[in-house]
Amino acid sequence: MKYDVIVVGAGPAGAITAMHTAKSGLSTLLVDKEPKNKVGDKVCGNAVSLQHLKEIGLNPPSEAVYGTIDSIEIISPDLKSKYCFSAEDAGVEIDRLKFGQYLLKLALDSGANFIESVAITSPIIENNAVVGVSGINLKDSSKVEFKGNVVVDASGAAGVLRKKLHNYVDDILDDDETMVAFREIRTTSNHNKTFKIFINQQFSPGGYFWYVPMGETLANVGIGVRKNSIDPRVGYKEFLKFFPNLKDSKVVHVGSGIVPVRRPMAPAVWNGVVFVGDSGFTVDPITGGGIGSSLEAGKIAAESIVKAHERGSFLQDSLWDFSLSYNKKIGHKYASLDVVRIALQARTNEEINFIMSSGIVSQDDLLKVTSGEELRLNFLDAFMRAIAGVRHFSLLFLLLRLVKLSNEAKTLYYNFPTFSEFKAWKEKDLKLHKEAHRQLA
Ligand SMILES: Cc1cc2nc3c(=O)[nH]c(=O)nc-3n(C[C@H](O)[C@H](O)[C@H](O)COP(=O)(O)OP(=O)(O)OC[C@H]3O[C@@H](n4cnc5c(N)ncnc54)[C@H](O)[C@@H]3O)c2cc1C
Repeated sequence: MKYDVIVVGAGPAGAITAMHTAKSGLSTLLVDKEPKNKVGDKVCGNAVSLQHLKEIGLNPPSEAVYGTIDSIEIISPDLKSKYCFSAEDAGVEIDRLKFGQYLLKLALDSGANFIESVAITSPIIENNAVVGVSGINLKDSSKVEFKGNVVVDASGAAGVLRKKLHNYVDDILDDDETMVAFREIRTTSNHNKTFKIFINQQFSPGGYFWYVPMGETLANVGIGVRKNSIDPRVGYKEFLKFFPNLKDSKVVHVGSGIVPVRRPMAPAVWNGVVFVGDSGFTVDPITGGGIGSSLEAGKIAAESIVKAHERGSFLQDSLWDFSLSYNKKIGHKYASLDVVRIALQARTNEEINFIMSSGIVSQDDLLKVTSGEELRLNFLDAFMRAIAGVRHFSLLFLLLRLVKLSNEAKTLYYNFPTFSEFKAWKEKDLKLHKEAHRQLA
């Protein structure tokens, strides 16, 4: 049988894509390497903003949610400064397995077919287009093939098809764009509903340590570090010292994973294939949060596939709408935040302490930036303070360059080009990325 759509990976991105294409009447096959009852069971911080869930109309059942997160604190390396954001019900802490099962059910109830325990290994390419996938049935090691008009790579950070299509697509993930994460779920008591983030370039180089309450009795505690920096478990032990409530706690679950933190894949489509979720680099490059954006990207991908189906063509130009719409809605913010990531990863603890204590980037500024507004600096204020500590002059000028480049990145991705104008746009994108490294790192 030939399907209209084959979706590889039934995580948040794949399940939502499949749900929407099936709902639109397209024959949809969803394949995952995991058995059905394990789909969704991923090592994660488990925090999702309610805004993302509302945006795509999801209302997970209460058993898939541990509790709410009412505030977020970002703590400086010297522990002396904090950014605090509070908003009632800012987010929820989900049970990834139960949430994943809920998403899978939505896809199946919409009419998608599901095949479990099949690891896809390669795209099938004919006449310069992807026309299906091949893989291995993990139950009996037999080879399998599925044919379809369009294939969606929603295989997460593995990017199983993206890596095989490297001659045709933007697939590079540099070491500084690869977060290696380690996390534990521990029993605890005595915490409020605050998501705490600790920045420290010695113990979590290029990343951060997190503590997220999972309801009253559990905590999700983890660390992300830049690939090839330090062993995340070493840094993790240092941060644990800040939490006396975890001293004698029981470890309920332990695991690790990879988070791709870079600007969006551009374009995230080729002939007969769409890359969505972590596979298409839809993660927030600063927080590493990718559940909400994967869900939104999945919906946008499905809408673009339905339009391509109506046109009767699945070539790159016909699927182009996905990259246009995704970047207009979310990608431009993450492209801008990627520039901030490049600058932040290269700062010392002393510089971060200064940025946070001087007020040059206030918490209101930070909130605006993360919600997509332009980055501004309280320059005069910081300038006066910098006079007192002359060594920070160069940092102020670096921050000015950061503002300029991150705003340029935002504009560039917001105005994602048409298919025919792409070549010139890509040159600008590469130049901007190189400049960000040259001027900020
Ligand atoms: C330690 C850690 C902490 C994180 N914390 C947070 C957080 O608190 N909040 C947040 O928003 N994001 C967080 N993230 C990121 C988030 O987990 C991802 O962005 C999100 O899961 C991406 O969804 P996805 O559907 O693209 O991929 P995934 O959720 O990874 O799903 C991919 C699916 O594809 C399947 N698959 C993979 N390879 C194959 C194959 N070859 N054949 C068939 N199927 C395959 C997998 O089994 C899986 O079901 C974290 C990530 C890590 C590693």
